Amino acid sequence: MSFKSLGLSEPLLRAISKKGYEIPSPIQAKAIPPVLEGKDVLASAQTGTGKTAGFTLPLLHLLSENPKDKYRPIRALILTPTRELAAQVYANVKEYSEFLNIKSAVVFGGVNQKPQVATIRQGIDVLVATPGRLLDLEGQGALSLKRVEIFVLDEADRMLDMGFLRDIERVMKLMPDKRQNLMFSATFSKEIKKLAYTILNNPVQVEATPENTAVEVIEQKVHRVAKGKKTGLIIKLISEGNWKQVLVFTRTKHGANNLCKKMIGAGITAAAIHGNKSQGARTKALAGFKTGSVRVLVATDIAARGLDIPLLPHVVNFELPNISEDYVHRIGRTGRAGASGEAISLVSADETSYLRSIEKLIDMRIDVEIIEGFEPDPNASTEPIKQGQNRSQGRGRNSSSNSRSSGNTRTTNRNKSGNRRRSDNRS
Ligand code: AMP
Repeated sequence: MSFKSLGLSEPLLRAISKKGYEIPSPIQAKAIPPVLEGKDVLASAQTGTGKTAGFTLPLLHLLSENPKDKYRPIRALILTPTRELAAQVYANVKEYSEFLNIKSAVVFGGVNQKPQVATIRQGIDVLVATPGRLLDLEGQGALSLKRVEIFVLDEADRMLDMGFLRDIERVMKLMPDKRQNLMFSATFSKEIKKLAYTILNNPVQVEATPENTAVEVIEQKVHRVAKGKKTGLIIKLISEGNWKQVLVFTRTKHGANNLCKKMIGAGITAAAIHGNKSQGARTKALAGFKTGSVRVLVATDIAARGLDIPLLPHVVNFELPNISEDYVHRIGRTGRAGASGEAISLVSADETSYLRSIEKLIDMRIDVEIIEGFEPDPNASTEPIKQGQNRSQGRGRNSSSNSRSSGNTRTTNRNKSGNRRRSDNRS
């Protein structure tokens, strides 16, 4: 299958070939035709599948093929959960529309709104936005959504995780009822299905099934370790392994800052990226990480969502996520495009139940290794950490799962998809 056979116009085909894409990715092959037919689409796809081009290319095709108003009202709105994702989607819109008479802009918070307003005033066809700044600007009369023909909700699941449901509902009320809607989400919870029901009209459902799921391609390992020894362990792994580019996930912003400081103290160049960082700081950190001047990027899930970091060799979960799907998103940042990658999780006793849920989700046991000098604390409680709370160790003694967490004898077998599975004395 070629991009041409999907029915995209010549200027778009030129832009696609300039980007170096040869064939459509599965999600593009599935999503582009129904979008071109003007249908609503519900797509299941995560970052890395080529989903952005999946909605941007047909959207640009439709806008450029239909007559334009010389005042250029906003005809397409793409809503994304994070600033980084908005900036990335906008960069894609710009590239794909290079040979078209289409103008676009991006608006997000954390930066001066004046230049954003000035660009919109000149007339734009496509607006990429995060919900907060969009509603602010609309409230100030700086933009109108009354002429929107195509609405894209990108990473809808993350939108809900970030508490944007109300904002999405407000945005919908600002657009005409008659419009085409496209919704992309990596996961489909009950809430997402409910949202899809309210936004979409008789949608075509498409799904990207990666040839290899992340969990099959990526080498995964768990280091059981005492909570207080995690920092020492990660510094040892990075230094002794001479890792050059490592993405590290923490659960909280505070944790990200703290770890970052300690890395720098140990002579490892590091930067943190999270919601409390200014847009400038985030962009600088990401740019440094991509060029190699920053060896370690410490991120929270929300900040890392949607970042396009190609060929990442190492991902470390300094703390496991309490939402199992986030584990799959995190480790999905390594092993892209057939490159091998390694995902390591530092797991303390209080994260045992998170590990269990993750293993259940991915349907395999992750190898456990204990590093000498960084052993788990046999007296630590396996009771899960309460959200937003940092617990110290050593609360309960020798619960049944404590002894499990420090045990390490096991046998290896394979699950139904051929992956190595562990059955050990932890279960
Ligand atoms: P996305 O899932 O939209 O974040 O895209 C992930 C990466 O795949 C980006 O770096 C895109 O530039 C790239 N990409 C998108 N479509 C294609 C394609 N058809 N062929 C090769 N690379 C692509």
